[in-house]
Amino acid sequence: MRDATRAVMRAMVVVPAERRVGIVERPPPRRPSGAEVLVRTLDVGICGTDREIVAGEHGAPPPGASDLVLGHEALAEVVEVGPEVLWARPGDLVVPTVRRPCPNPRCAACRQGRPDYCMTGEFTERGIVRADGFLAEQVVEDEAYLVPVPRVLAEVAVLVEPLSVVAKAAEDWKAVRSRYGFELPHPRGLVLGAGPVGLLGAMVFQAQGIETQVFSREGEDEPRAELIRSFGAGYVSAGRTPLDRLPERIGTVDVVFEAVGVPEVAFGALPTLAPNGVFIMSGVPAERGPVAAELSRWMRDLVLENQVVLGTVNAGRSAYADALHRLEQFMALFPDAVRSLIRRAPFDDAPDVVTRGRGIKDVITLAAASA
Ligand code: BGC
Repeated sequence: MRDATRAVMRAMVVVPAERRVGIVERPPPRRPSGAEVLVRTLDVGICGTDREIVAGEHGAPPPGASDLVLGHEALAEVVEVGPEVLWARPGDLVVPTVRRPCPNPRCAACRQGRPDYCMTGEFTERGIVRADGFLAEQVVEDEAYLVPVPRVLAEVAVLVEPLSVVAKAAEDWKAVRSRYGFELPHPRGLVLGAGPVGLLGAMVFQAQGIETQVFSREGEDEPRAELIRSFGAGYVSAGRTPLDRLPERIGTVDVVFEAVGVPEVAFGALPTLAPNGVFIMSGVPAERGPVAAELSRWMRDLVLENQVVLGTVNAGRSAYADALHRLEQFMALFPDAVRSLIRRAPFDDAPDVVTRGRGIKDVITLAAASA
């Protein structure tokens, strides 16, 4: 229950101009009104985006502020609800979505409930762009931006947000595939990168019957390669098979999911794409100068083989619902692999975890769910 006697709460902020992170005291949020919900944060996952914000490469504090409360991959518990709330009840577990619509009346995407496709760039993202996030003891959020989570998934539900990004990529692939008018009997997939998003991508592929290979820099005997093989995917180390030899080693694939954010690796893997293949990019590189590229070869292949290269970011509500189903499926198929992604740390360690990184998916645990 809410401790009404406390006048402050703890939050972790980044001051991008100074590349500084720290835990600070802030006034706790006001009591919820209208369709608002007061939640207490249980878990927050840390990802590459958080580290880019700390490095000053991405994101921005709220207008007029010099610091930003981090945290966009959250699991929280409902404490108190406003009078117009429809379904949320104290004790419910919820995962908040990240992006909030822009105010522009001409943005068809935001006006139709798909801020993940915002057309103006004026959106906000909690914990990333112009809006405080969830690395705080308590937060108020509109019920419309909360997704209810079954209690059986409490232990791993912090993975729902990164999984929603992969689920949206899976939606994208399905949408592009619908142009064929025929089914692929034995689809083959390649995931670039063995970070948390790449691993979740490989799990999504494997669980939906796609023969999957993961390509990354870790050695083939390292624990991460073992983990990948434990849920049935194959692993190719860049140390053993350079990118230009990849098609020779694994053949061609119908879908590539890129999760490294390195243009040379992403575009360098284009020759592994089969005719009609779909190449989905999700990594966000820091801006740098030009990179030499085989443009005429890529363009020939894209045209002569009906290929599609697409980018995907963020996720709509449907992808969150899909992510929850997929997580339930993973917990039935390969629960140990899912659990082994997560490495927990207490709130006090958050500044260090954000700066240094410890596990595959670092998770800051602020509180336990009530019994
Ligand atoms: C988040 C997305 C967000 C993107 C760009 C990712 O880490 O998962 O929700 O849209 O960063 O800011």
